[in-house]
Amino acid sequence: MDLDSLEQEVTSALSHASSLDKLEEVFRAYLGRKGKITFHLRELSHLSPNERVKQGKALNNLRDKIKELYEEQKLKLQKQEGEEGEWTDVTVPGKRLPTGHMHPLSRIQMQAQEIFHGMGFAVAHGPEIETEWYNFDALNMPVDHPARDMQDTFWLKGELDKQKPENKKSGRLLLRTHTSPVQVRYMEKNTPPFRIIAPGRAFRHEATDARHDANMHQLEGLMVGKDVSVTNMKAVLEEFFRLFFGEGVTARLRPSYFPFVEPGFEVDMSCVICKGRGYVLSESKHCSTCGQAGWIEMMGAGMVHQNVFTAAGYKQGDWQGFAFGMGLDRLAMMKYQIHDIRLLYSGDLSLLDQF
Ligand SMILES: [Zn+2]
Repeated sequence: MDLDSLEQEVTSALSHASSLDKLEEVFRAYLGRKGKITFHLRELSHLSPNERVKQGKALNNLRDKIKELYEEQKLKLQKQEGEEGEWTDVTVPGKRLPTGHMHPLSRIQMQAQEIFHGMGFAVAHGPEIETEWYNFDALNMPVDHPARDMQDTFWLKGELDKQKPENKKSGRLLLRTHTSPVQVRYMEKNTPPFRIIAPGRAFRHEATDARHDANMHQLEGLMVGKDVSVTNMKAVLEEFFRLFFGEGVTARLRPSYFPFVEPGFEVDMSCVICKGRGYVLSESKHCSTCGQAGWIEMMGAGMVHQNVFTAAGYKQGDWQGFAFGMGLDRLAMMKYQIHDIRLLYSGDLSLLDQF
């Protein structure tokens, strides 16, 4: 074994390494697991004891020397490459970092809240897990009421402690099918006059399609006073549509039935796409948004049923008020022209990034 020429070889290879990667390569070629010097060190065991001491010492010296050279060269190269790296090309476009932003539904909810706030409505909240009493009975839908079947319900296991007086009437537990129970909860704790809105989630046990999801967002409204009328209701809703969708939008009421109001109405809004004509002038075609009707069904509403007032603890005939409930999903779909409600809950960034 010619250690001198081996030393020359390594020294030259190390000092000629032109990059940190190449330097590592050279180092491994001699001192790596399969390196030349490592091999010689392993071979020592086959030598006679005298030879082993002599050769071992020389090899160890060489190894130390290589390590030293390697470290020196490494520092040099690091400095070089570092200096190169410090040079900044200011014309290179910056890296775009993904930023989060508000979900379209949250935006719609905030806009709606702001508009109603401007009309003196406070925000009220209630639990998503409700009792049969607040979700149905107190809203004039006793056990055998057929309207209960209209709202396919997620019933929950477990029951409230019936020994406690506040749970006497509670019934079974469920996921609220609408935001209307918040009306009753609020009325129990407050004395009119007041105006509130209650935005939140509601759940229906039904098959999903482009217009229905098992999970939805509603906005409930309630105004109670001594002489609150249908006229007030129409004015408030029309003002909301106008501020939300733009000038020129009008509302119309159609008689309808909901157990918790009397009289009850379906509230339509003039179509924002065709301006109520049923025909899109700029595109010379019939309006698909409203199906040529010129009107879009927006929500259910009506004058609060006296049975609901009495369920909340008010005296029959003392107060009158109106209530309404609309789908925030519907509102978002209208405003942003989204055709499938499920897209709002899919977490699909190709949709969400557009807002
Ligand atoms: Zn239309």
